Amino acid sequence: MTPEQNQKFQKNFPSILVDELMSKHINMRIGGPASLYLATSDVDELTDAIEMANKEKIPWFIFGGGSNLLVSDDGFDGLAIQVAFREVKVREKTIIVDAGAITGAVARQSVADGLEGMEWAATLPGTIGGAIYGNSGCWGGEMKDIVVTVDAIHLPDMKRVVYPNAKCKFGYRDSVFKHEPHIILRATLGLKKSEDPSVVNSRMEEFAAKRKECQPFSESSAGCMFKNFTFKDESELERLKNDVKEIPPEMLAKKSLSAGWLVSQVGMKGEKIGEAQISEKHGNFIVNLGNARAQDVLMLTSKAKMKVRDEYNIMLEDEVRLIGFDS
Ligand SMILES: Cc1cc2nc3c(=O)[nH]c(=O)nc-3n(C[C@H](O)[C@H](O)[C@H](O)COP(=O)(O)OP(=O)(O)OC[C@H]3O[C@@H](n4cnc5c(N)ncnc54)[C@H](O)[C@@H]3O)c2cc1C
Repeated sequence: MTPEQNQKFQKNFPSILVDELMSKHINMRIGGPASLYLATSDVDELTDAIEMANKEKIPWFIFGGGSNLLVSDDGFDGLAIQVAFREVKVREKTIIVDAGAITGAVARQSVADGLEGMEWAATLPGTIGGAIYGNSGCWGGEMKDIVVTVDAIHLPDMKRVVYPNAKCKFGYRDSVFKHEPHIILRATLGLKKSEDPSVVNSRMEEFAAKRKECQPFSESSAGCMFKNFTFKDESELERLKNDVKEIPPEMLAKKSLSAGWLVSQVGMKGEKIGEAQISEKHGNFIVNLGNARAQDVLMLTSKAKMKVRDEYNIMLEDEVRLIGFDS
């Protein structure tokens, strides 16, 4: 970015921050400075900033909670926009929620309001926008099960759109928003009135306890680094049955190999590069032990991918979005 462009943004968006360290806003606590950083709770301000960035040909990216991102040590030479509109309205069994609302807080509120269907998300880090983008899910629930509509801006033409669930093309950690650029503004979620709220509450507590037990939840991470591996067809399953001696029955039933299990099978749990470590608790998490660099994290993910490829002929795919690595 040129100093002139920098000044232009500062003049038009008084709350914009210059050279803001992304490590302050990203769950992994890693990442150099973004030339410009704007946290906005105003949709008009958001669209104005994007329009100006496009006009000036300045790279930009949008994020919510930063719980599924890895930002380069060199930072991002452009504009980082954090969605911070967070209104939540509950109308009987329907929740109308802004993209910047904290997913876990919305889920806990829904349970307190006697609703059922979102309790699985009570300990899911990040925002509703990020959860819709990646069709986040855990403990048997996924965003696709509760999204009724999504209000968004379709980026190429900046048009406001409202998509019903089917148009969101949700798949495993996937949605239309990953493939066609949009800004997610708001969503309508459809839940059920629970017959016994105490049962739903206990289920939520159980999920939270399980998470603490099997994931490094209190450490800095970006969640799962890799997508689980889904068998394409029966022949692939047969090949894997020969290559992988003991596929756990629950993975066979789901036709999916857990990436964390694969990483631990190749002996990489606990492995460190610098201050980045593959979690001892869960092979699909890389934790920042203090001063890890993005470079350390990438070296660890590459090593894990190579080992899994060499031993199982499986190419693990990244689940985490990388920012600032191509400049
Ligand atoms: C400890 C831990 C545990 C986790 N466990 C799970 C789990 O069980 N299941 C699971 O699915 N995930 C899990 N994650 C990953 C992460 O929490 C989810 O993917 C989460 O929903 C991301 O939300 P976010 O707001 O933090 O997204 P961000 O990290 O801010 O962004 C992720 C992506 O979404 C896009 N995005 C965000 N907001 C918008 C918007 N408004 N419009 C358009 N695009 C947007 C960004 O551009 C980016 O590409 C975990 C993460 C951590 C750190």
